[in-house]
Amino acid sequence: MADPDCIFCKIVAGELPATIVDEDERTIAFMDIAPATRGHALVIPRRHARDLLEIGAEDLQAAILGAQRLAGRARERLAADGVDLLNACGAAAWQTVFHFHIHVIPRYEGDPLRLPWTPGAGGGADDIAAAAAALHAGS
Ligand code: 5GP
Ligand code: ZN
Repeated sequence: MADPDCIFCKIVAGELPATIVDEDERTIAFMDIAPATRGHALVIPRRHARDLLEIGAEDLQAAILGAQRLAGRARERLAADGVDLLNACGAAAWQTVFHFHIHVIPRYEGDPLRLPWTPGAGGGADDIAAAAAALHAGS
């Protein structure tokens, strides 16, 4: 179940230290070691899964509910003005630790984070339609 080379599995097992802020039967959440903003935390399944495409439905559900709990606490207790959730799936999408995790990033008015994409860079109306046809559940 655990991957012996995975640092997040080692955190789950208590073999590596982490500042845990939430846990339940299926998940733990701990502070990111290199936070983007104050309160940046990661929610992970206890069971190793590489990424969004591999994680089981029940663990995914538990992880997103964990993220929702932390988002609420960030608003209430850290006075965050907003929260971003981020999941990187694959190296091309910035994933660096290959144990599924959801970043819970509290946002504050005037913080230095910037939108990571240029709106519209993914194409115009024809590209949108072609991508939609490929993505459509019925195709
Ligand atoms: P990714 O780039 O895969 O979306 O996110 C990995 C995150 O894990 C990064 O934000 C990084 O700072 C965090 N991280 C990497 N190693 C450790 C660690 O040993 N402990 C903790 N708490 N966070 C880590
Ligand atoms: Zn793992």
